[in-house]
Amino acid sequence: MDPSPHPLSQFVLKMHSRCDLACDHCYVFEHADQSWRGRPKVISGAVLDLTAKRIAEHARTHRLDTVHVVLHGGEPLLAGPAKLRRAAEGLRTALADICALDLRIHTNGVTLDEKFCELFAELDIKVGISLDGDRAANDLHRRYRNGRSSHAQVLRAIALLNQERYRHLFAGLLCTIDLRNDPGTGYDALAELAPPRIDFLLPHATWDEPPPRPADRPSGTEYGDWLLSVHDRWTAAGRPMDVRVLDSVLRTLRGSGSLTESLGLAPVELAVIETDGSLEQADSLKTAYDGAPATGMSVVANSLDEMAAHPGIVARQQGLDGLCDTCRACPVVRSCGGGLYAHRYRTEGRSGGFMNPSVFCADLKQLITGIRDREAPRTPMPQPLLDDVHLDALASGFGGSDAVALLARHELTVNRELLAAVWHETPHSPAGTAAWDMLTALDAEAPASVDAVLAHPYLRPWAQRSLRGDEEAGRIAMRGVAELAAATLLRAGRVGAVTVPTDSGILRLPTLGTLAVGGAEEAHVIGSGDDGFTVRVGGHEHVLGPKHSAQQAWQARRRFEMPGWAVALEDTDPWRDIHGHPAAARLSDAAAEEWRSGLAGAWEWIRRELPAYAPGLAAGLSVVTPLRENSSGADVSSAARDAFGAVAIARPGTPVTLACLLVHEFQHVKLGAVLDLTDLYDPSCERLFYAPWRPDPRPLEGLLQGTYAHIAVVDYWRARRRTEDGVEARAAEVQFARWREQTAEAVDTLAASRALTELGERFVTAMGETLASRLTDPLSPDALAEARRAAADHRRSTAS
Ligand code: SF4
Repeated sequence: MDPSPHPLSQFVLKMHSRCDLACDHCYVFEHADQSWRGRPKVISGAVLDLTAKRIAEHARTHRLDTVHVVLHGGEPLLAGPAKLRRAAEGLRTALADICALDLRIHTNGVTLDEKFCELFAELDIKVGISLDGDRAANDLHRRYRNGRSSHAQVLRAIALLNQERYRHLFAGLLCTIDLRNDPGTGYDALAELAPPRIDFLLPHATWDEPPPRPADRPSGTEYGDWLLSVHDRWTAAGRPMDVRVLDSVLRTLRGSGSLTESLGLAPVELAVIETDGSLEQADSLKTAYDGAPATGMSVVANSLDEMAAHPGIVARQQGLDGLCDTCRACPVVRSCGGGLYAHRYRTEGRSGGFMNPSVFCADLKQLITGIRDREAPRTPMPQPLLDDVHLDALASGFGGSDAVALLARHELTVNRELLAAVWHETPHSPAGTAAWDMLTALDAEAPASVDAVLAHPYLRPWAQRSLRGDEEAGRIAMRGVAELAAATLLRAGRVGAVTVPTDSGILRLPTLGTLAVGGAEEAHVIGSGDDGFTVRVGGHEHVLGPKHSAQQAWQARRRFEMPGWAVALEDTDPWRDIHGHPAAARLSDAAAEEWRSGLAGAWEWIRRELPAYAPGLAAGLSVVTPLRENSSGADVSSAARDAFGAVAIARPGTPVTLACLLVHEFQHVKLGAVLDLTDLYDPSCERLFYAPWRPDPRPLEGLLQGTYAHIAVVDYWRARRRTEDGVEARAAEVQFARWREQTAEAVDTLAASRALTELGERFVTAMGETLASRLTDPLSPDALAEARRAAADHRRSTAS
């Protein structure tokens, strides 16, 4: 038989099949499987030898680094020191030249004494102890056959393990949850014993034998809530020890592997060797039905490769493919993995067997989403640093694609943090919660799509409005979360559905478009996994997408692809109207076509005449928002500090003018992002400064922004002077002459302000160097004189 693609590396070796306690929640003796009755009490030397040989063979074949063996029972200490020594020495000898051996023993601890501890120290056997909390909690189940408490004996064993000589052997405590025990008291009782790790185990249950819950109106999430209380206590205490179930959730939420077979999608690599040498599946299956863990194999007759290929083992090595449809579509499946295999079991009906969600499904969801929501604000996103090279490139007035991409990454980080803040500060509606779950699941599965939506320039105005804390904020927040989730689902091309509140009269799908929905209160956005999608709203069904005929109610955001740059024309998102000038209404197809042609011409000109600006612009300018034209015919353009990646412009008469407005406004976008990352000036400076391009004096940041933007204006006129003829060339020369001098003077004003930080001085010095190189261009005396007259007139006009 071919070896399994997933070799076995974890073994539970049953040393003794009886126990000196009579715990009523024990799956070995008290659950459906009663196979223990027919087994030898103690494992034989021959079975131990064969076991060591089989494990060594398997480890060699599969080149395992480490094999994990737990000496188990019943109660393994009942096997006695000699048998435990033989087991340990046999395994260590067999594996000596093959791989490492992680050897442990799980005991109830009641007979653990110094003799055993000395043996474990000699053979390097780590010790895990079962304890369910304080005495009252432990006495609920863990008693002797005569009903006597075992608590004092267990504490004595733990005290022994906490002695300096044995402390390194102490592996941790195992606690089975009983809802009658207070989670805080239970956690405190265990934490007081200073274990290096605590395992909280869900009680074994199936759909046939569901776990106990309060008789009076059970919520169905009691076990999840219980563990969340422990999480909060543990976190408040600074997480002084590992808590395996909680650490596993945290790890899986971050994309790492689980530490327990009861969570996550990692293949199960565990086999059990009974006292008679039988090879069985996990003990937890004993809870399902009599004989459930049996495989019909044994170390006598079968190799571990054969065991690994057993259908019961292979079934638990299939990741998502091994789960039922409900789990596969579940937003937390990568953390949950459908829960412990045994907990999925149901005898009856179409779903008989293990292809079901866990009987703890609601608890697991509650636990995972609860931890995820608590963790979001604790987990800092990696902060890209603006290093000297990028800072200097931006300070010179340009900044290539690397520098601007770095700014974009930081702005995305800010958006993500804002979204998390919105979520954590807003009461959750059921639809909002479902949408959030969808969004976080997509973040694990399709992060590029989530980033594309969260980088939308108009996310921040929505988030800021949502955080205002007034009556409207909660509604706006939950609507926005659902909008983001729906847009991400569609961009990711996933199958699924999101319910989006539409109380504003439109369904907004950020980065995609809007759908007019009349008075409907909510819309169901259904992704079908291809280019199209369906919106069910107010009794209508809209099938939308590039392959479907246009519908008047749907206003798709238009996107223009040009050589080296792609940009969206944003004329649908209601949050775009933040630029200090009214946003244009939805454009007709003809007007959009004029924009497309204007942008193509402007981009071509920028690439040819202002090549130093092109790479940064292509890397960071993703949206152009059309503004309403000014009745005076003057050019209108704007960049908003809270909309990284967007500029707003009323379409000017020529592509060349559009080029000027694009580079000018994108300078503001770049500098705004630099200011989000660095401190360039003292914000307490309240002085106002003369700004050559404004009728009114400006605060320091305004002057800095204008000066930085005018570096691009200087270069624009410099290029126009070069590319125009006749009168146009002469006018461009005058503009160039004026702006190079006045922008250089503004740099001097900034430098003399005494309000720049050290970094700010460096930044402004680099701006000045760029301008200084423009000041050496030869100019006609006439043009220079005319420019200086215009500058003097402006200064006089602002002084009066
Ligand atoms: S939470 Fe429930 S549906 Fe989701 S993976 Fe776990 S058991 Fe399956």
